[in-house]
Amino acid sequence: MKRGLLIIMSGPSGVGKGTIREKLMEDKSLNLFYSVSMTTRSPRPGEVDGREYYFVSKEDFKKNIENDNLLEWAEFVGNFYGTPKDKVENMRNEGKNVLLEIDVNGTKTVLSKLDRNDVISIFIAPPSLEELENRIRGRSTETDEVIKNRLAQASRELGQKDQYRFVVINDKLEDAVEECRKIILSN
Ligand code: 5GP
Repeated sequence: MKRGLLIIMSGPSGVGKGTIREKLMEDKSLNLFYSVSMTTRSPRPGEVDGREYYFVSKEDFKKNIENDNLLEWAEFVGNFYGTPKDKVENMRNEGKNVLLEIDVNGTKTVLSKLDRNDVISIFIAPPSLEELENRIRGRSTETDEVIKNRLAQASRELGQKDQYRFVVINDKLEDAVEECRKIILSN
């Protein structure tokens, strides 16, 4: 059986990665499976443990690092996020294409560990920083301080988009989804 692809999708908070991911997952021809990450941040309203994330304590997270259970991990605005290694491996060995939605630092780790040609990396960029701020504020799930930190983080991340093989601008959702779809299919 052909080993599945590893697809990394990154982009600043609020850019719409989650929505793009959901649309891509609806397309069964892509054979796409989402790798659920582990995080120490608290669930947002509506988020379910094991679906959006595995929500764990800082102690549990540290244990997972020590036991080498994570393909990569990063600290993002005060919380830890990481990708369970075995799940990704197992899914790829079953021929499934695995989608990681991780930040730019996590991407660096993955690209340093795996053969770059083996990884499709896509950066989702907003049409502008102003538009991004509107989207984050519109979501209104975070405090003002968190929003400010996330916006500062967003401009840092935008500065690193060149390490990705593909950059897709999420101006119109359907166009961005279609572009991602084509990138995956052509690989
Ligand atoms: P949020 O708190 O908005 O769900 O996620 C914050 C950031 O963490 C996003 O950029 C998201 O892509 C990233 N992230 C989510 N899971 C992981 C992970 O497993 N590893 C890394 N490095 N980043 C992650």
